[in-house]
Amino acid sequence: MTRSAWTAIAGLLAASALLAGCSGGGGKEVEAASLEARAEALAQEAILIDTHIDVPYRLRRGSEDLSMRTPTGHFDGPRAREGGLDAAFMAIYVPSEYEESGGAKGFADQLIDRVEGIAARWPDLFVVARSPDDLLRAKADGRIALPMGIENGAAIESDLGNLRHFHGRGVRYLTLTHGTDNLIGDSSYSEASTRRWGGLSPFGRRVVEEMNRLGIMVDISHVSDAAFDAVLEVSRAPVIASHSSCRRFTPGFERNLDDDRIRRLAEGGGVIQINFGSMFLTEAANRQSVASWRETEAWMKERGLDWDSPETRERREALRASDPPVPTSVSDVADHIDHVVRIAGIDHVGIGSDFDGVSSLPVGLEDVSGYPNLVAELLRRGYSEPDVRKVLGENLLRVWREVERVAAEGP
Ligand SMILES: [Zn+2]
Repeated sequence: MTRSAWTAIAGLLAASALLAGCSGGGGKEVEAASLEARAEALAQEAILIDTHIDVPYRLRRGSEDLSMRTPTGHFDGPRAREGGLDAAFMAIYVPSEYEESGGAKGFADQLIDRVEGIAARWPDLFVVARSPDDLLRAKADGRIALPMGIENGAAIESDLGNLRHFHGRGVRYLTLTHGTDNLIGDSSYSEASTRRWGGLSPFGRRVVEEMNRLGIMVDISHVSDAAFDAVLEVSRAPVIASHSSCRRFTPGFERNLDDDRIRRLAEGGGVIQINFGSMFLTEAANRQSVASWRETEAWMKERGLDWDSPETRERREALRASDPPVPTSVSDVADHIDHVVRIAGIDHVGIGSDFDGVSSLPVGLEDVSGYPNLVAELLRRGYSEPDVRKVLGENLLRVWREVERVAAEGP
């Protein structure tokens, strides 16, 4: 054998050693590159479900061409494809004020029309999904599934029959409350001392039973601790937290779940879908957001303005400029996933980004193109590919099927 042939063989052996990750130095780069590539491939191939994206509400300001990369917002077709997103639960978000002013149901219907409009306008890109099977078919066809969840039970007003109406329109989860207490139960955001029900109302209990009967997932994101406890007492099916993180990292923030409740959610077979919003991730980001939000709320009240008014938006932008958001990272999101895995197991955690619903996001997870960065971080932490698949979507799919099964079986 010639000297150059030996050199070539030695080179190949060294390269394969690097790829196998058993060399230091330059090996780290090769290793990193192959890990990124694995993450990219896994995000594309796995079933990737995000249970909370606020596109319908975002579009209230005017329609946008979602088949193109949009200049603002966290979601559009091209970026969703880049990120490997297969199913984006469209949040049918009904602001709490509708419970007082009336028109909550009508507003929810309008947002559902909007989601149907997206699928009708770009049928090669998007399709409304009403079941796990629909979702898998969409993936097989190369389309992005748009299942729907209503955020705020105020949408059903005081009529259980409206649950059937929304189920008929394709709604597959209902977030029982939002920013204030409603007819169903108490909100984690309302003042604890003046809460209306001390958990769920008698009507709220019947709502949960009817959701079990119809096959609508019960979403406990936004409810108070006492309402959470009542839901677990009543529900015959596993429940979800569509966009909540772990309170362990944001002490005192009831909107995130404490360890005991994460464990009980898991014992019932449910899943917590981690919210990517910075305020949900770290104590520093949470304190800053909560303080600026309280301050803005008081400022609006004095002037009779709401969150959507141009004056409020201007003020929030000025606040952001003078006090920039505390940065967070992909690693912070992975810490929440790790924590759930540690206390409740790998079968009970998923992702519910809150894209288009939050203003500050981790570096590397600024929009729907960023999921592969999270996958890379999980692989780096030693998660196996089957475990990453569970987090990305299989856990949620299991819960959804179970909710369907409980409905089909009846009480
Ligand atoms: Zn929310």
